[in-house]
This record gives sequence, C-alpha cells and structure tokens, in this order.
Amino acid sequence: MQNYDIAVIGSGPGGYVAAIRAAQLGYKTAIIEKYDTLGGTCTNVGCIPTKALLDSTHHFSEAHHKFNEHGIKLNEIELDFQRMYKRKSEVVAKNTAGLDFLMNKNKITRLKGTASFVNNSTIKIVSENETIDITAKHYIIATGSKPSTIPGVEIDKQRIITSTEALSLKEQPKSMVIIGGGVIGVEMASIFNRIGTQVTILEYADNLISTMDQELGKSLHKILKKEGIDIRLNQGVYKAENLGSSAKVLFKDKNGTENELEAEYVLVAVGRKAFTKDLGLENTGVELDERGFIKVYENNQTAVSNIFAIGDVIGGAMLAHKAEEEGVLVAETINGQKHHIHYDRIPSVVYTWPEVASVGYSEEYLKKNNIPYNVGKFPFSASARARASMDMDGFSKVLVDPKYGEVLGIHIIGARAADLIAQGVIAQEYEITAEDMFRISYAHPTYSETLKDAYLIASGQGAINI
Ligand code: FAD
Repeated sequence: MQNYDIAVIGSGPGGYVAAIRAAQLGYKTAIIEKYDTLGGTCTNVGCIPTKALLDSTHHFSEAHHKFNEHGIKLNEIELDFQRMYKRKSEVVAKNTAGLDFLMNKNKITRLKGTASFVNNSTIKIVSENETIDITAKHYIIATGSKPSTIPGVEIDKQRIITSTEALSLKEQPKSMVIIGGGVIGVEMASIFNRIGTQVTILEYADNLISTMDQELGKSLHKILKKEGIDIRLNQGVYKAENLGSSAKVLFKDKNGTENELEAEYVLVAVGRKAFTKDLGLENTGVELDERGFIKVYENNQTAVSNIFAIGDVIGGAMLAHKAEEEGVLVAETINGQKHHIHYDRIPSVVYTWPEVASVGYSEEYLKKNNIPYNVGKFPFSASARARASMDMDGFSKVLVDPKYGEVLGIHIIGARAADLIAQGVIAQEYEITAEDMFRISYAHPTYSETLKDAYLIASGQGAINI
C-alpha cells in the first residue's frame, strides 16, 4: 500500500495548486485524476479553451469591422473553423503539458484513475488496468463541478449541449439558442456570434450577468445587441426537444406568453453543480449541504478532520482563482500556517469584448444595506488610449465611502478590464482610499487612467479628462 502525507483528488486549478503548494512545503504528495490530462474543467473545457476561441473570434471580428478604419485592406476574410478549433486544442495541450512539467518538477506522484474513499483514511483508485489502495494523512477533495440543467431540458450532448460539447464542434453552427445569460452564456454567445452564427440568448432574470453590478449587464446588453445577438430577458425555458438535425426550445415570459425557437443547437448555460459521483463519500463522515456541495468548516476542513475540500465542489464563486486560493490555504493550514481568504475581494471577470470585471460591493448591495457611497464613473470614450485602439465602449465605475474614502466596489466594462481589476483588488485588500488611488501615477496613455479619473470624481475633485 502506498502512503502519502497529502493526497489531492482532482487536478483542476484547486487540486494542482494545492498539490504544488503541499510539495513546496515538503509533504510527500500525490495527485489523482481520472482523465488522461491534468488541469480539470478550467484547463481542458473551461477558462483556457474559451479564451483561446474568444481571442480567435475577436481577431476575426476586428478584421471585419475595424481593419478598414485602421487603413488595413484585406480582399477577403475567410474563417477556417477547423483550424481555429485546432489552435484552441493546441493551446490546451500546451497548458496540460505545462502541468505535467510542474508535477515532475515538484516531485508530485501522479496517479491516474477514479478515487473513492474506502473509509476516512484510505482511498481506492480504479483505472482501466488496475485498482490500488493508498493511504494519506490528509486528503484534499477538489473534484469540481459539472453543468446543471433545468426541468424539461435534458442535455443529450447531440443537439442540446453544454459549453463542453460546444468546444469540440466539428463545423460552425448556423444557429444557436443559449439558455442563460450569465458569464458562460455571454462568452459562448460572443464566440459564435462573431463568426456569423445566429445567436439568441434566453435569460430568466431581467438583466445579463445578473449577479454583478446591474449597470454592467445593461451596458453589455447594449453592446452585444449592437453586435447582432438576439437577447431576450425575463424568459423562462420549460422544455427543449431534439428534432434530429436541430433542436427546439419552448419558453414563456413573466406574463405567461408562450414562445418557441428552433436552432441547430441549444446550449444550456444555467449553472454548474458539485461533482461528487463515485467519490465514496458515504464511507466517510463528510457531509453534503442541501444543494449537494461538500460542507466545509474553518479552513476548508470537512466534518472529518483529515479531509479538506476546495474549489467548485464546495460551491461559492465557481472561479478558477477562488479554487487556487483555497488550495494554497489548505496546504498552508496543514502546515500550521495562518492564512485567510477574503471572499468578497475575489474578482469576477467576463471575457466578452469589451471585458467586464468587478470586485467588491455592487450599487444594488450598498443601496439594499443602506450603506452610503459616492460614485465615480468615467467613460472609455473619453480615454485617449481607448480612442487610439477604437475600443471606446464601456466605463470604469468606483464606489467610495463618502466619509473615509474607502473603496467599496470597482466595476469596469471596457477593453482589458480583466487585467485592470487587479489594482481594484489591491485597493480593496489593503483598504486604500480613493485619494490614495488618484494620487499615484498612471502611465499615459493606458486604459487604467479611466480608473484614476473615476477615483477623482468619486472624491469630489472632478476628473481631469472630462
Ligand atoms: P475542476 O477544474 O472541475 O477539476 C476537477 C477535476 O477532478 C476534474 O479534472 C475531474 O476529472 C477530477 N475528478 C473528479 N472526480 C474525481 C475522482 N473521483 N477521482 C479522480 N479525479 C476526479 N473560471 C475562471 O476563473 N475564469 C474563467 O475564465 C473561466 N471560464 C470558464 C469557462 C467555462 C466554459 C467553464 C465551464 C468554466 C469556467 N470557469 C472559469 C470556471 C472554472 O473552470 C472552475 O471554477 C474551475 O475549474 C474549478 O476548479 P476545481 O479545481 O474546483 O475543479
């Protein structure tokens, strides 16, 4: 029987980061993954392939709509769909190879197979060729999540698909109905709309990306609509049917008015659920909550003291960087270190174009909780950098405590918002005031200057550039 200090189950961003940190701290570490490649959802069918396709389709769209303005003449712009998907797969392969390298470098034992608990201290790992038992002093469960659906909509992976199947299509779809206007829904909509697929989004809420500050979703709605996406809000889908070479969705609005749509594919993007299948948790004292997520207590410890859980499988923000932080926290906790995660300072990002990024409180939250705030909002249309690149859609908005100037929330829709939000995270984490933020120097011309002006406005100083 093999014995380890720490065994990590699942090799997504939660699992591989936990394993690396554990190994760095000197623990004999194993990582168990049932698939051939490491990296989990994020690397194989999530963050990385979607960003590869978002980049490819963004270039395609720029070539169509902006190159002319830049004085670049192309006679014909053609899409090679298979090549675009091949590049996406190559990007994924480079990343998974990078993870293999990191496991070797850190002397982490990689075990392939499905892990399931025999009891609180032993797991068996079942692969095609063999079944082995291992023991570890500590276990870290990082088994992630799988797409969920809604009643009446059965994902058949043929015509009624999820983001996973959409990432391995053989041909460009002519039409697609996307159920859900959250992060995954709008990213998938952007990918396909940009290459000429007729895309409709059906969203139950009254706004896109409805968990973020509402102004972001409203602005994104206008931009995506302008680009040709048919967006229908307040729509409750209650049935989807595979018709062979197409699929049909039936839905009704809040007044009960019935409607239906047919498309080559129906893509379900209504959220994800914890993946604990085959884990044998019934043989342990690990508890699940009412929604099926693994219940964790302080420092991500489950009800069993030597078993920890991290990432999507415990719920909360289903984000790779949240899983990564938890991986580090658990490894360091086992090591006796004190570590803390500020969950309200984890940024949310949407990789549409323009990108959307947010950290801290939304205006809706502050209003609801009677917390006073000042708003500083600066449009990208007034940014010299944005004019140079013709990326003038969007704004940077900061919400600031009127008395002490503490930065309460930062919400950006605009070019490179995903990178800009990092300074917002620093501002929040170290409780820097809006004045501190506008007194520092921002390189000119950059998109980040939109934040400097937003901080100036929120502090009552008045922006320099508007
Ligand atoms: P996962 O990445 O899901 O990894 C879990 C791993 O555990 C899997 O490899 C699975 O095979 C393995 N496993 C499960 N059970 C067992 C078992 N019993 N034995 C052995 N192995 C097992 N997040 C971002 O932050 N940024 C993004 O841009 C982003 N884009 C996304 C786009 C899409 C389309 C999707 C679907 C998700 C995206 N996410 C993004 C979310 C992100 O992918 C997840 O939050 C992240 O992967 C969660 O990491 P994890 O380690 O908890 O689990």
